[in-house]
Amino acid sequence: MATSGGGSYRNGTHRNSLKVDRPFSMNSNPKTSVKSKPLSSSGLRRSSTGSIGAAKDDAGVPGRVRVAVRLRPRNTEELVADADFADCVELQPELKRLKLRKNNWDSDTYEFDEVLTEFASQKRVYEVVAKPVVESVLDGYNGTIMAYGQTGTGKTYTLGRLGEEDTAARGIMVRAMEDILADVSLETDSISVSYLQLYMETIQDLLDPANDNIPIVEDSKTGDVSLPGANLVEIRDQKSFVELLRLGEAHRFAANTKLNTESSRSHAILMVHVKRSVKGKHSALSSEKGSNLHMKTLRPAIVRKGKLVVVDLAGSERIDKSGSEGHTLEEAKSINLSLSALGKCINALAENSVHVPVRDSKLTRLLKDSFGGTARTSLVITIGPSPRHRGETASTIMFGQRAMKVENMLKLKEEFDYKSLSRGLDIQLDKLISEHERQQKAFENEIERITTEAQNRISEVERNYEDALEEERVKYQRDYMESIKKLEEQLVKNQQKHGFEKVPVRSEDDCSALTSNTEIIKLRKMLEDEALQKEKLEGEIAILHSQLLQISSEADETRRRLDRGGSGKVPGDLDSLFSQVKLQQQEPGNGEKASVAKLFEQVGLQKILSLLESEDSDLRIHAVKVVANLAAEETNQEKIVEAGGLTSLLMLLRSSENETIHRVAAGAIANLAMNETNQELIMGQGGIGLLSITAANAEDPQTLRMVAGAIANLCGNDKLQMKLRGEGGIKALLGMVRCRHPDVLAQVARGIANFAKCESRASMQGTKTGRSLLIEDGALPWIVQNANNEASPIRRHIELALCHLAQHEANAKDMISGGALWELVRISRDCSREDIRTLAHRTLTSCPAFQAEMRRL
Ligand code: ADP
Ligand code: MG
Repeated sequence: MATSGGGSYRNGTHRNSLKVDRPFSMNSNPKTSVKSKPLSSSGLRRSSTGSIGAAKDDAGVPGRVRVAVRLRPRNTEELVADADFADCVELQPELKRLKLRKNNWDSDTYEFDEVLTEFASQKRVYEVVAKPVVESVLDGYNGTIMAYGQTGTGKTYTLGRLGEEDTAARGIMVRAMEDILADVSLETDSISVSYLQLYMETIQDLLDPANDNIPIVEDSKTGDVSLPGANLVEIRDQKSFVELLRLGEAHRFAANTKLNTESSRSHAILMVHVKRSVKGKHSALSSEKGSNLHMKTLRPAIVRKGKLVVVDLAGSERIDKSGSEGHTLEEAKSINLSLSALGKCINALAENSVHVPVRDSKLTRLLKDSFGGTARTSLVITIGPSPRHRGETASTIMFGQRAMKVENMLKLKEEFDYKSLSRGLDIQLDKLISEHERQQKAFENEIERITTEAQNRISEVERNYEDALEEERVKYQRDYMESIKKLEEQLVKNQQKHGFEKVPVRSEDDCSALTSNTEIIKLRKMLEDEALQKEKLEGEIAILHSQLLQISSEADETRRRLDRGGSGKVPGDLDSLFSQVKLQQQEPGNGEKASVAKLFEQVGLQKILSLLESEDSDLRIHAVKVVANLAAEETNQEKIVEAGGLTSLLMLLRSSENETIHRVAAGAIANLAMNETNQELIMGQGGIGLLSITAANAEDPQTLRMVAGAIANLCGNDKLQMKLRGEGGIKALLGMVRCRHPDVLAQVARGIANFAKCESRASMQGTKTGRSLLIEDGALPWIVQNANNEASPIRRHIELALCHLAQHEANAKDMISGGALWELVRISRDCSREDIRTLAHRTLTSCPAFQAEMRRL
């Protein structure tokens, strides 16, 4: 090419020939120079139609693809080769214009968002081209920075310089990462990077070259594009990022060598994912402060995701389809497919075309969510100064001009951080659970406290009620007894009066008889009234009693209900015993034994025996009656003794002044004394002494009968003869004959007979010698006196006693002198019982002393 202006050309005529003095505006269209309709920075179009892939109704901030042009300085070769030629472009950076020389006298002027001269520093390039995009990414948008231009015009220089030797030379990628790292907080935010190469419609991982043919995945809902197959490396510092870039570059170089291609034919794509948690009003954790937890206030933390895509595009120069570069036609088509598809998409978008052929290539699919549309996009077109490449330069400029018409509609990429929401909820749930547990525990404690209180109250009410009831009952009973007593006294008086008057009535005084009869009628009436009153009172007692039982059972029921787990105690036992023992006197005689047995079963012997020591004398009497009834049954005797009943009964003889208690206790002891073992126990516990004292003090024939019966039983024990007699048993027995009651006498006689029988056995066995202890203790006169008693039980026992005494020579003398012999003779003749008669006869005949006496007489 011929040169005219030499080195001065660039700064000489050409510049001066420009029609720049006319003002440049959106609407100005200098007919010769401004070819396109570039937009002024204020002229933002509002239409949302021009986007690669964004949904048109997505909310977003409108914007436009920003395009900067960068001119590379002449390289060494150009300095030489083009030395005589002017550059094909002239830049007017302050006007943001570029003039493309058509020929020596004419040029076209184009306006860009930025015009970067060959002197523009890397720093400035970064600031005007990349920084707004990086800031946008940090705010949660997607952003793309692309370099387009002919091979060798400085795309890689602009984007990929690592600048390790000279920091001023650092390219956009390195500077972008520096800014990102400076802005994020690595505690809450994350940065991860993929680095890829696209060549002949195949995506290869530059961080792991074995990983190629990586598929593009699109989220049908969000439209987000991702490459899940690609390595995603987390970046925590600048150094590791630079390392990663270097590694990627090395792999790119090696891969291209292997494929025998030029790196200029492939696209290098760096993807930086920035994930930031947004602090402040939406933060999940900030709403959790304090103990006041409300679900309403808990919201997931918001995560803003921005994706920065930096694309170092393949060289824009046409591939020689003639095959001179060693490519087949198909290869040539494929190599350029992505770039030409990008061009077509940009054209469609620029013209607001309905159809944008995004799907035509991998590159356009990959940039779907990052170019135009919802992303902020910057394009830097790189051009060389050489007029030899004017054609390519012009085409690059046109590409940039069209791209300037592409609109963006920025969309904030925010999403809820459900993971931290879940964590927050977990923490909250945990707190709620522990709070719930605490409340539950407090509630249970409260329930327990209320239950205890209720139980105490029930017990108290029961006690009060029972006391009141008992008081009432005792009062009624006392009144009743007093009434009966009064009536009886009155009756006795009247009878006496009547008896005295009866004789004269029959003989003399009709008037007196009449008075007497009237009185009797009156008394009868009173008696009837009293009986009625008694019945009424008993009825009332029965009602009160059933009420008490009902209350007791209700209380038991309540207690059982409250008593969770059931301690097994039955607190009503003693109460019910109390009631039942008291009921004894109201029970008809027939039912008594059965009810006593039932009682025995229900309440247990120990409890009945414990009542023998009750403070309440009334209760003591009833208890001793129950024990006496039980002792009448042979089956119960052993149990009573085992449970200490015998000792208690003996204690009662000692401690009580009450005649009834003496009577009943003695009766019980008499019953127990039927058993040989018990006889020894009674003796062992000083029973004979106690019985003797009781006998000496008793007036009541029934008491004496019981005591005599008890001693009589003891008299029948062979082993206890000496002890019994030694402790005054025989004397006590004989002392009781002062009461002439036949029942008492019968028991005394039985005792004597038992004793005599044992003595005779002992004598026959040779363990006893000498005269009978009965005779020693002076029993003989009474025996002789009552030998012919009209009461047969007395008579029989004495007859037997005499027979036993007569068997021994030692007694003969006393018997003869005491008149016993004659009684024996009488028995041998007159006794109605043949066995006794025979026994007496045999005794008389076998005893030489008796024979001698009878012969003497
Ligand atoms: P491309 O990637 O577009 O093929 P490169 O970035 O490889 O071009 O640049 C080609 C050559 O030009 C490299 O040697 C590079 O250092 C140099 N170069 C590119 N742009 C500039 C610039 N603005 N200043 C100085 N040298 C540059
Ligand atoms: Mg390059």
